[in-house]
Amino acid sequence: MVYDCIIIGGGIAGTQAAIQLGRYSTHNVLVVDSGHGRSSVCHTYHNIIGWEEGVTGEHLRQVGRKQAETLGIEFMEATVTEASRDGERFVLTTGDGTRLITHTVLIATGLLDRYPEIEGLRHALGYSIYICPDCDGYEIVDRKTVLIGSGEHGSGMAVLLAERTPHVTYINHEQQPIEPKLLEHLREKGIRYEEQKVIEVRSDEHRDIQSVVLEDGQVIEAEKGFIAFGGNHVRTELAQQLGVTLESNRHIKTDPRSKMTDVDGVWVAGDIGLHSELSTIAMGEGTQAAIWIHKKLRKIHKS
Ligand SMILES: Cc1cc2nc3c(=O)[nH]c(=O)nc-3n(C[C@H](O)[C@H](O)[C@H](O)COP(=O)(O)OP(=O)(O)OC[C@H]3O[C@@H](n4cnc5c(N)ncnc54)[C@H](O)[C@@H]3O)c2cc1C
Repeated sequence: MVYDCIIIGGGIAGTQAAIQLGRYSTHNVLVVDSGHGRSSVCHTYHNIIGWEEGVTGEHLRQVGRKQAETLGIEFMEATVTEASRDGERFVLTTGDGTRLITHTVLIATGLLDRYPEIEGLRHALGYSIYICPDCDGYEIVDRKTVLIGSGEHGSGMAVLLAERTPHVTYINHEQQPIEPKLLEHLREKGIRYEEQKVIEVRSDEHRDIQSVVLEDGQVIEAEKGFIAFGGNHVRTELAQQLGVTLESNRHIKTDPRSKMTDVDGVWVAGDIGLHSELSTIAMGEGTQAAIWIHKKLRKIHKS
């Protein structure tokens, strides 16, 4: 069997694309998803229209999948490990060796944030510890906020957070160097700076951060947290295998109108693209890519 489109990644971008493709009622579409992305880590999207009280990524994934399945879209829980071209078609191989053939591919594999294992961090991440000041800067207004990070990735973020609250403590957990003039800038902004390891993040039963414990035994009280370690893993390996050009930061530039990459038949949507990494943008790109995949499929089936 040859699929019309295989979507790799069933997060926000991939699921939204699946819904749009399903609404044409003519294409056989498969979503292959390995089940863990930023949308499964984030438990509070507050910046989406209609969800003033916030919505979890897991909820959007589940209702989105159900909606797509109602439209005839197939889902497979698996990891695509290899991608190659075979003439006008694409061959994708999953972890258990299953070979899938398709006319078009949408890669919506997202990225994973880098952070070290610190006791208690994972428990509160995505609940009261955030990663994106555009998304969650609003949540920390005038709150005691602890930023756990690395070197200048963290110092840049600390300055942004200080625009929202006067109570920022930046803990340079990885003790990476920071230019003296940046340290001076932190001081000018009233940001408390600590250069040592965090050994524990403490939070309550609602996963609201309460404090962090440093290596020297200090306990720093916190109402909100952020992380900024840099070095995120942009999941563009499959795109690279298909010959798609990666930017120096490993994200992918697409045609602004169609979201197609520089390889005919291969689309990209969501966080692996070049833009602000937001769920609403991932949704928009998923829809946009699907519309142009549909146009391509009409041509393929006419010829
Ligand atoms: C803690 C946190 C808080 C956030 N807060 C906000 C917020 O408040 N507002 C906001 O707009 N955005 C927020 N974001 C960002 C938002 O979650 C992302 O922009 C969004 O999830 C991007 O969607 P995506 O579809 O590109 O990737 P994802 O949602 O990460 O989905 C990618 C999917 O691809 C799958 N996948 C990856 N590789 C493969 C493979 N080889 N084979 C099969 N499947 C694969 C993964 O399993 C995953 O399900 C937050 C993110 C985090 C981590």
